[in-house]
Amino acid sequence: MNTDPEIYAGLYIHIPFCEKKCFYCDFYSVTDRSRISHFLAALKKEMQLASRVSLAFDTLYIGGGTPSVLEADDVARIIGNVFKYFKILPEPEVTMEVNPGTVTLKDITNYRNSGVNRLNIGIQSFHAENLRFLGRIHTAEQALLSIGWARQAGFANVGLDLIYGLPAQTQNNWLEDLARAVEINPEHLSCYMLTRESGTPLDKEVAAGRIRLAGEETLRGLLETTIDYLTGNGFLHYEVSNFARLTEDDCSTWKSRHNLKYWSFAPYIGLGPSAHSFIEPARYWNHKSVRNYIRQLRDGKLPIAEKEKLTREQLLMEAIYLGFRTTKGIDLAGLKEKFGIDFLKQFDENIADFKKEGYLKVTKTHCALTVQGMALLDSITAAFTNQDVA
Ligand code: SF4
Repeated sequence: MNTDPEIYAGLYIHIPFCEKKCFYCDFYSVTDRSRISHFLAALKKEMQLASRVSLAFDTLYIGGGTPSVLEADDVARIIGNVFKYFKILPEPEVTMEVNPGTVTLKDITNYRNSGVNRLNIGIQSFHAENLRFLGRIHTAEQALLSIGWARQAGFANVGLDLIYGLPAQTQNNWLEDLARAVEINPEHLSCYMLTRESGTPLDKEVAAGRIRLAGEETLRGLLETTIDYLTGNGFLHYEVSNFARLTEDDCSTWKSRHNLKYWSFAPYIGLGPSAHSFIEPARYWNHKSVRNYIRQLRDGKLPIAEKEKLTREQLLMEAIYLGFRTTKGIDLAGLKEKFGIDFLKQFDENIADFKKEGYLKVTKTHCALTVQGMALLDSITAAFTNQDVA
C-alpha cells in the first residue's frame, strides 16, 4: 500500500442523472431517472471490484450529472460503501456537487450528517436572464437559499461555480455576479468560460448562426477582470478557473484537494458511467451509457470502455498542459527528474517567443503562463505539445 502524501489517490463518483439537460453542457447524464435503483446497485458492485486496487485515498468527490437528484439516504449509503470498500485516510475531503433547484435544508443537513464536508453549488449566475439562457432549472433566489442552508447545516467549506462569456454578457454584468459571490464569502470559486462543446444545443445554435459566442478579446478581458477582482478580494488564483479564499492568517487556502490531484499526476479512480481513472502510466474510462454500465456490472465485469497506456512523450505533454493550467506553472526540477529533460533548453524558441509576447514568465524554479497567457492556454500548450521531444 502506497501512503506517500504526494500520491494519495482521489476517488470520483459520477452520478449520471439530471432533472433537465442544460443548454451548454456535455457532461454525460440522462434525464430518465427510472434506472436510479439499478444504477445504485451497479455502483456498489463497481466499488467492490475496483477496491482491489492498492491505493489509499484522501479525497472523495461526488459529481455528475446532478448528485442531488438522489435521495439523501442513497447518498449516505454511497458514502458508507466507499468507507467500507476503499482505504480512506483520516480526515478526507468529501465533496458533493449540488444543484440549487434540487435541494432542501433537510437534504443538505443529511448530506452533512453522512460525512460530506465540502459542498460545491452550481450557481452559474445571479442574473435571471443568464440562468434562462443557460437552461438552468433554478433561480438566483434558490441559489442564495441553498448557500444559506449549507451554512445552517454546518458546512465550513462551500464552493460556488459561476460561468462567464455568455453572448449578451457585459463586463458589468459579470462583475455584478463576482461581487455577489464575494459578498457571500464562499471558501472556493470556480469561474468557467462558456465553451462550445460539440453536440450540445448551444453548439447547434452557434452552427446555425442564431447565437454568436463572445470573441477571444472579450473572453480575455473577462478572465483578466475575474483574476483582478477576486485576487483583490481575498482569493488566491491557483488554477486557470479556480480561486481559493485565503484563511484569516493568510497562511493557507481553501484549495480543492481533490481537483489538485488532476493537475499534479496523482492517481485517481473514477466510478460511474463515463468516469475516467488514471494510475500512471495507464488511463481508462467507463462506458458512457447507464444501460451498458449496469449490464457490465450485472455480468460481474468492470464497466471499462477503453484503456490506454500513455507513452513517455504523452505523459510529458500532459505534464506541460497540466503545469500551464496552474498559476505555479511547470516545476522545472520535477520535470527534469521525471522525464530527464531540461524544459528551458528543450523549448527555448517557444519560450523566448511567448515571453516576448508577455504570455509566459520564467523563474529559477518554474515556468508559468501570465494572466494574458492563461486566456490562450490551449493554443500556447498546443505549440509546445506539437513539437518533437528528444
Ligand atoms: S450543467 Fe450540471 S445540471 Fe446542467 S446538464 Fe450538465 S451536469 Fe446536469
